Amino acid sequence: MISTPFDLTGKRVFVAGHRGMVGSALMRRLERENVDVRTVDRQHVDLRDQAAVNCWIETVKPEVIFLAAAKVGGIFANNRYPADFLYDNLMIEANVIHAAYELGVEKLLLLGSTCIYPKLSPQPITEEALLTGPLEPTNEWYAIAKIAGIKLCQAYRRQHGCDFIAAQPTNLYGPGDNFDLETSHVVPALMRKAHEAKRLAKPSMTVWGTGTPLREFLHVDDLADALVFLMKNYSGEMHINCGTGEEISIANLAKMICRTVGYNGGLEFDGTRPDGTPRKLTDVSRINAIGWHHKIELLEGLEGAYQWFLNEAASSLSNEAMTQTR
Ligand code: GDP
Repeated sequence: MISTPFDLTGKRVFVAGHRGMVGSALMRRLERENVDVRTVDRQHVDLRDQAAVNCWIETVKPEVIFLAAAKVGGIFANNRYPADFLYDNLMIEANVIHAAYELGVEKLLLLGSTCIYPKLSPQPITEEALLTGPLEPTNEWYAIAKIAGIKLCQAYRRQHGCDFIAAQPTNLYGPGDNFDLETSHVVPALMRKAHEAKRLAKPSMTVWGTGTPLREFLHVDDLADALVFLMKNYSGEMHINCGTGEEISIANLAKMICRTVGYNGGLEFDGTRPDGTPRKLTDVSRINAIGWHHKIELLEGLEGAYQWFLNEAASSLSNEAMTQTR
């Protein structure tokens, strides 16, 4: 039965992927809800295994599922492991969604990404841009699997009346981020570089590309809040964007990160590194119209993310030789 608002009170909620950046943010956010949260480790249930997933869901009987489990990674990983990105993500989605249908789960939210949209989508990117053009080839394996996940939600809704929805977050940052300089995204990469440059009193640090590309950044705690909001207040076949609708150039982002870290050196732009797409901004009118807006502004979010880095990641990283400061 599909009804909005959906009452989460007292529900048994399965967070699939609870150790990931988004899953851990959801775990923090769900502490503020009156729900019974269930999780399972990869060693106990491999979500790529249909029989294992069915058995676990049958035993635990979740009423609600946040499907945040996925194989994720940057350009390098996508290029190196295309089969893993496609197979693992397709299997996880198909298994969990089908089991949710068979076992009568009341509501499921699938987490995607804005990389599902065509490379040359008009900006800001509306939900309707899906499947209107070719994808960015460097992450098409992941994107194709996520598009299949959205379509699974739509198909089970149409054929079986399941209340399954899909959310597409823009570029995320915050606690739990990946600080490996070759595989991370720009926020953690520049934060780590600024931190190391300050520690080693370097006169400048390197920023990839020209600094002119424009990007949108959403704090992962805001995303978790949006996902809980959507679970309660959205029930539609159309997947829905989650973002801020605000953009910043990479050069200005780098300056903001340097201020946050307290690094006063210069910036060197390395033109041998790619800029990527010139602009990537989501249209957030749909989620705004149903009443959700982001709350954490970039400067405040970066300060919190840097505190997390200092507490959780900096010491182990600075023990590694900083061989790749470029
Ligand atoms: P994208 O949004 O998919 O392009 O992913 P990224 O977060 O990796 O990169 C965003 C932009 O930041 C691109 O224009 C990069 O060239 C630029 N950038 C600048 N310095 C860095 C860096 O040290 N690491 C990364 N990943 N990107 C950087």
